[in-house]
Amino acid sequence: MYTTSFPVDRLKDIPTPFYYYDLDLLRHTINTMKAEADKDSYHIHFAVKANNNPRILGIIAEAGLGADCVSGGEIRMALEAGIPASRIVFAGVGKDDWEIELALDSRIFCLNVESAAEMKVINDIARRKGLTAPIALRINPDIDAHTHDKITTGRKETKFGINIGLISDAMELVKESANLKLTGIHAHLGSQITDLDVFRALAERFNDIQDFFEDEGLPLQHINFGGGLGVDYVEPDNCIPDFAGYFNIFRQGTEARPGQSLHFELGRSIVAQCGTLIAKTIYVKEGETKNFAVINAGFTELIRPAMYDAWHHIRNISSKLPPEDYDVVGPLCESSDVFGTDRSINGITRGDLIAIQTAGAYGEVMASQYNARPLPKSYFSDSI
Ligand SMILES: *Cc1c(COP(=O)(O)O)cnc(C)c1O
Repeated sequence: MYTTSFPVDRLKDIPTPFYYYDLDLLRHTINTMKAEADKDSYHIHFAVKANNNPRILGIIAEAGLGADCVSGGEIRMALEAGIPASRIVFAGVGKDDWEIELALDSRIFCLNVESAAEMKVINDIARRKGLTAPIALRINPDIDAHTHDKITTGRKETKFGINIGLISDAMELVKESANLKLTGIHAHLGSQITDLDVFRALAERFNDIQDFFEDEGLPLQHINFGGGLGVDYVEPDNCIPDFAGYFNIFRQGTEARPGQSLHFELGRSIVAQCGTLIAKTIYVKEGETKNFAVINAGFTELIRPAMYDAWHHIRNISSKLPPEDYDVVGPLCESSDVFGTDRSINGITRGDLIAIQTAGAYGEVMASQYNARPLPKSYFSDSI
């Protein structure tokens, strides 16, 4: 177990609110994940949308991971961070023409296509360029990820992927498209998945789908199972996700063909625990039945509680006073701007630093300037 500790003496002079990243923990997480993935030479593409901070991406690139991008901007950031194009995959239901051109010009590993309409456009653009576009079909396997509705993506008729009933049509289209080369299949079921049986179902579903492709004379060089492995928001000190259990499911459940490569797109599980949002307490407001700790961060810095009903562990890192119950709230003029209710936290006084943990994924990247607030800055454990 790695106990998160905060260098309060050094943090207290930094203007709040800000993101603090523990880079030792990030490296430890990556190394633990890689040790498991390397047992079967699995290919890992970090989901850039979870955190595109250049410093974090640099460490990901150094570790030899690839990137899973969902926009042209992310492809550029991944390349700038030093991630080779040959390890970049590109998903997204609405790839614009310039993004497809960028992907093809950069010679990325694969475009994960989500509709017949998109396949036609990619084929046209590739033809104009005299190229063959490597594609994987993103299949919607109709599996419920048992996670929050706003982050489940693999149920039938969500906007993502190609429904199982439409795979045959998609195959015909591949065969007719001279400038597309089908190299694999892809799925992504959703995020913050803690019920690992969901992944077992995916491995099994893909065995059947793979048989179907082979019967049609379309053997697959790679299979990409997407991401989604969940993390422990309640106990941030339990900071290493169950990578061994996760990869074991695919090791046992997948009927991989000789020479076929297996790919994963992990985002949250790699970066969530190394990031913390640090804010200052502006006021302790005493209500009739509750105490509110009003802090100087809001959903502009971390939108997950407001958007996904997410629960983050909240600590007062300035105080050793006995715990009391607080609602921890932000300054924004929105009633959803609440980080936690009825939380037992060491006695809070004005000026105390509040740490909102497990904020490294879908935190800083989703910050906004609503209420004319500046974007938060980031600080790193090796340079404060
Ligand atoms: C968001 C996303 C991921 C990463 O999901 P995590 O839950 O952060 O692991 C992977 N693949 C695709 C296509 C995504 O959209």
